[in-house]
Order: sequence, then C-alpha cells, then structure tokens
Amino acid sequence: MTIAHHPGLENLMSCSAGSMPEAFAAVMASHIGMCPVCRMELVLMHDIGVELFSSLAPSPLAGKIPIMAMHRAEAETGGNAAPGRSPDGLTAGGMPVILVQYAGDELDKVAWRRLAPGVQHFPIALSAGAKGNLRLLKIAAGRAIPAHGHRGSELTLVLRGSFRDETGLYGVGDVADHFDETEHQPVADPEGGCVCLVASEKKFRFKSVVAKLFQPFTGL
Ligand SMILES: [Zn+2]
Repeated sequence: MTIAHHPGLENLMSCSAGSMPEAFAAVMASHIGMCPVCRMELVLMHDIGVELFSSLAPSPLAGKIPIMAMHRAEAETGGNAAPGRSPDGLTAGGMPVILVQYAGDELDKVAWRRLAPGVQHFPIALSAGAKGNLRLLKIAAGRAIPAHGHRGSELTLVLRGSFRDETGLYGVGDVADHFDETEHQPVADPEGGCVCLVASEKKFRFKSVVAKLFQPFTGL
C-alpha cells in the first residue's frame, strides 16, 4: 500500500489532543491504522504535548487518548503490528478493525442501502449527541457522486479501489481532506469502483437541481 494523501496537520493535532468529533476520529483512527507515517507523527505530537503540559500536574493528555493506546506499539516498532493486530488495521475482509462492531468484518457483507444508481451507503450510528455523520460509501465502477460543495469539513478514507476528483487521485489508505470551499465531483475507478469511509460535518451542497430534489431521500 502506497499512501500519497495524508490528513492535514490540524487533524493530526486535534486527534493527538483527543478533541476531534467522533465521526472524524473514526476516519483518522482507520487511516492511522493503515499509515505508519501518521502513526509516528501522532506519537511525536502526543509526546510533545505531554512534555509541554508536564509542569501542570496531572498531565491532561497522558493515557487519555484511545487512538494513541491503539497505535503506540505499532509506531514504536516501526510499523510492526502488535500481537493479534493486523499490520494495516484492516480485517481480512477489508474493514477497519475499529468499525467491526458497527459494520461487521467484511466490506462485501455490509448491509448496503441503495442511494442512487451505482451508489450505496451504510450509515454508522454515532453516540447520542455526537455531531456530524459517518458512513461507508460504495460507488460502482466509473460512477460519480454529483458535483457538490460542503457546509463544513469532510474527511474521506479509501478502503478499496480508488476515486478521482478535481483535487487528485485517491487510492487505498489515502485521505481526502475537504473544507467549506471545496467543490468537487468524485468519480470512482472505471474498473474497480471504490469503497470509502466518509465523515462529514453537514450535508452536501449539491449543484444540480435533480441532486437537490433527491437529497432528502439520500441523506447525503
Ligand atoms: Zn498518513
């Protein structure tokens, strides 16, 4: 797996501080499981944070970050998985280990719901009161999500296949980190399609009238 697109520094910092909304933390934890580069960055940030706060007893950071606890061993051994953990944080069925209890352990056996021709999703329930949305999104080969902008942030992790939009080509393990001002039209790989994990703050801002009309039914 060659990862070309990593989440932005502010996302890693927010993750390290344990202050990230649940939906986004799930995408970050899944990516970090797949990405030795971000694992190492996270450990460094965490250690710097602990150092900075060490004069304030007790440290507000030490030992309180589940993502850190999950991945410190891998980072400190140069990316080797801790005993019993897969090296890329995925099950044999391609599911991020942290999502197994919510979505099962195989991408092929997810209870997909049809959103539009060639587009299926599986919403993942968040804790009561948690902000934003988290969903698995499956796009058939060559299919596109209608052009849209965003009301808030969106973090997308590719779990299988690839997609392309105005900002680049995203393959397995890559994260697309989009903000308010981004307008794009993701198109799935023409042969294999793609499966992604998507966290979004709010609903999309579709450009076409048809997509807007169907938005109440799709929930996107
Ligand atoms: Zn990374």
